[in-house]
Amino acid sequence: MEIDEAREVRTTCPYCGVGCGVLAKVAADGGVTVRGDPDHPANFGRLCSKGSALAETIDLDGRLLYPEIHGRRTGWDEALDVIASTFSRTIAEHGPDAVAFYVSGQLLTEDYYVANKLMKGFIGTANIDTNSRLCMASSVAGHRRAFGSDTVPGSYEDLELADLIVLVGSNLAWCHPVLYQRIAAAREKRPDMKVVLIDPRRTMTSDLADMHLAIAPDGDVALFTGLLAYLGKNDVLDRAYIAAHTTGFDDAIAAASALDPAGIAAATGLGEDELARFYGLFAATAKTVTVYSQGVNQSSSGTNKVNAIINCHLATGRIGRPGGGPFSVTGQPNAMGGREVGGMANMLAAHMEIENPGHRDRVQRFWSAPAVAEKPGLKAVEMFQAVADGRIKALWIMATNPVDSMPDADAVEAAIKACPFVVVSDVMAKTDTVRHAHVRLPATAWGEKDGTVTNSERRISRQRAFLPAPGEARPDWRMIAEVARRMGFGEAFSHASPAEIFAEHAALSAFENDGVRDFDIGAYAGIDTAGYDVLAPFQWPASSLMEGDVQAQKGIQTGRTPPATRFFANGNFYTPDRKARFIAIRPTAQTRISPDFPLVLNTGRVRDHWHTMTRTGKSPRLSQHMAEPFVEIHPADAQHFGIGDADIVRVSTAHGDVLLRALVTARQRPGSVFVPMHWTDQFSARARVDALVAPITDAISGQPASKNGAAGVERF
Ligand code: SF4
Repeated sequence: MEIDEAREVRTTCPYCGVGCGVLAKVAADGGVTVRGDPDHPANFGRLCSKGSALAETIDLDGRLLYPEIHGRRTGWDEALDVIASTFSRTIAEHGPDAVAFYVSGQLLTEDYYVANKLMKGFIGTANIDTNSRLCMASSVAGHRRAFGSDTVPGSYEDLELADLIVLVGSNLAWCHPVLYQRIAAAREKRPDMKVVLIDPRRTMTSDLADMHLAIAPDGDVALFTGLLAYLGKNDVLDRAYIAAHTTGFDDAIAAASALDPAGIAAATGLGEDELARFYGLFAATAKTVTVYSQGVNQSSSGTNKVNAIINCHLATGRIGRPGGGPFSVTGQPNAMGGREVGGMANMLAAHMEIENPGHRDRVQRFWSAPAVAEKPGLKAVEMFQAVADGRIKALWIMATNPVDSMPDADAVEAAIKACPFVVVSDVMAKTDTVRHAHVRLPATAWGEKDGTVTNSERRISRQRAFLPAPGEARPDWRMIAEVARRMGFGEAFSHASPAEIFAEHAALSAFENDGVRDFDIGAYAGIDTAGYDVLAPFQWPASSLMEGDVQAQKGIQTGRTPPATRFFANGNFYTPDRKARFIAIRPTAQTRISPDFPLVLNTGRVRDHWHTMTRTGKSPRLSQHMAEPFVEIHPADAQHFGIGDADIVRVSTAHGDVLLRALVTARQRPGSVFVPMHWTDQFSARARVDALVAPITDAISGQPASKNGAAGVERF
């Protein structure tokens, strides 16, 4: 591609689910500068430390630049022929369920769409799952139970309009910094706005909080079930809304009312006075948004947590209104885009359901597909267990590093090593996963590829290339389509550009829809390359073009976008009777500690690193914030175990052990330790934290419980 040095390219940040707009510019000497896009409605020019340092992470050091087979450089044709013939042979000999794709919230929607189409429509299995399973699968499941669809009802604007923001299991200050900044700015203008933080740890987000409830790990179901009972007991219910727009209230309130205050206090680890203050504040504040993230989702009760929260919003009618609603914020830049195209093993494309024969038929007819998958596939943890026991014999891993990021990571590594055929397409040459690949495919990176992403408020934005593809790197969608053609599915995979894929995706979203499904971007079904090039950020649903879009499609980059959309303002949901469903929930104990492993193990992120650090590890500036992996431990526990600040500590579980620097701090909840998930053996010896995490999952969503394990500590 030719680089226009005078032009700033509008693109989006590749890190978190806030989905900030970025302006990138390449200078005559090749140097790149980035700044926040003042016209992007997610960030209005703001960037956090990670986004600001993007230009420091795009050098070619360590890049995978050429296809390889068994470590030998080869050409694309040979690599793709080997993949197609091996997948075809495996399917012929063992059936379609013997192959799998493990994909990523780092992929762009167009990549995801093609991968999902090949697997679910043409190979004929739903064995395609994503690292987003580790991120927000519980929210998806909770949304579908309550709303009949995977719909995030609100917009970022609601965070600024709310009078009360309840942050649950979310260190927004570090994990979604620009949203944190937006809330802080809104509160400066409206000092009466209240913020409650519900988190076992006192994180940096507590600086913004009027009230911090240091809840016991996994106490959230009890907390919100208790809140529902409180709302019922004190008659803070919107009875007209409940009657007109919901079902199941009587069962839900009966289940909630079975809990007594002392039981709630015990399950949450909170004092009855703290509970009363929070419940009173929630009850008294009509404009409440409850924001939740991994502390809710990454749990063996994650789906119930989501529904316990949604129950309280339904009971008060606080949904689909300005400044009111439950709000799941996603971890990854394109977890939402993946959901939209069916990148999860239990979904079809365009938010259709794999168990629904009508949906399968519709997708089959739209794609003219020979073999639409008829049952859900294996979710991430199950998928690697199937690799381990030999049921899956050919695996393609795209844009993710499961050897370091999956729970029980050592077992996952052993499974991948033993798998007869592993393809990895990645940007980097030497991740712990790429190392085990039989075929390695060089993928284009951020700054080199075109496509779209969807952020946490359902806003679809363009990622645009501003750098040439290095070596022989290619976009993921093209490699997948080339393999599909070699497998005999050429006609259906003849896309020449991401614009064509996006147009097909948009057309499928509108195909026989007529408002019966939530996801609809049919307005873009006819988009051409010129329109796609100038596509302005927009929120779905977008079944018809609005003014800002029309201008964008004419090539007028005004930065103007349609007003924020709020789902469910009319009280209609996507269940068969169009009513939202209350879910009757009873909290269950989640204790896993034992005499050998007496501390709760909580894993999570730090401010300046991302996933397994393949990108952020390149920036010295970002590495300054937290230079090495650590374990946060409360002073009382440190004293009990004879650990001093900055000591090296062995943290062990039934699955493995790591060596980390002790950070003794009263921010940590007594009886538990926190370890960041980012460091791998590439950056610090024996620091692969996910090797410690048990492969325990939520029974409904399949999401791993990464925040409530059991560990022991000792001074090394
Ligand atoms: Fe990127 Fe998220 Fe930071 Fe925005 S808040 S700049 S999307 S990492």
